[in-house]
Amino acid sequence: MERLQKVIAQAGIASRRKAEKLIEDGRVQVNDKTVVELGTKVRPGKDKVTVDGVPLDREAPVYYLFYKPRKVLSAANDDRGRTTVVDYFPEVKERIFPVGRLDYETSGLMILTNDGEFANELMHPKNRVPKTYIAKVKGKPSPQQLKQLERGIELEDGKTAPAKVKFKTGDKKKDTSIIEVVMHEGKNRQVRRMFEAIDHEIVKLKREQYAFLTLDGLNAGESRPLKPIEVQQLR
Ligand code: URA
Repeated sequence: MERLQKVIAQAGIASRRKAEKLIEDGRVQVNDKTVVELGTKVRPGKDKVTVDGVPLDREAPVYYLFYKPRKVLSAANDDRGRTTVVDYFPEVKERIFPVGRLDYETSGLMILTNDGEFANELMHPKNRVPKTYIAKVKGKPSPQQLKQLERGIELEDGKTAPAKVKFKTGDKKKDTSIIEVVMHEGKNRQVRRMFEAIDHEIVKLKREQYAFLTLDGLNAGESRPLKPIEVQQLR
């Protein structure tokens, strides 16, 4: 715990004396509540400290679209030392993190940003952001089974929301099928579990689209900054 005026001063906003004045003038908020007591203690890096509503350590927001390869972890860091999506951005100094998750074995489109509010908005179920997956599955699911997936199927953590499920092609020799799934839900390993539930295990899974964003022009492991207009349209 540190004294609030010290935390403000260390962020380079003001001298200690000026920081005290800012607090006394009611211009400092801790976790969105105005604080006027000089002795207030905060946890640096944990408590959200703002001056006139502006966070102390706000970085300029950055937004990237990334084609995650398979066998890459969709997290900012890994205590087991595995490669993470953030490792693909060595030149980016901002503290970016992935919006949502893709399984270690799943490839495809992810957004990375340092804008927590934007990320939360995108992930909130109420916003129903559609995501398109291409699944290569064992065998050939019947039209009835695909209808079942469309309507919603009972998983151990509840019934899935309606989805769009389309048979694309089949490979008779290899006994596999390519199926497209468009859905807005994002339960853990949801697409894999949906196909397990109809006994057609997924052998390969890729997210091809996220809202209106596609992987056009990118190879696995490549990224591009989102255009301001794209960021605006996602909000
Ligand atoms: N569904 C899955 O099963 N895995 C993913 O990575 C994304 C959706």
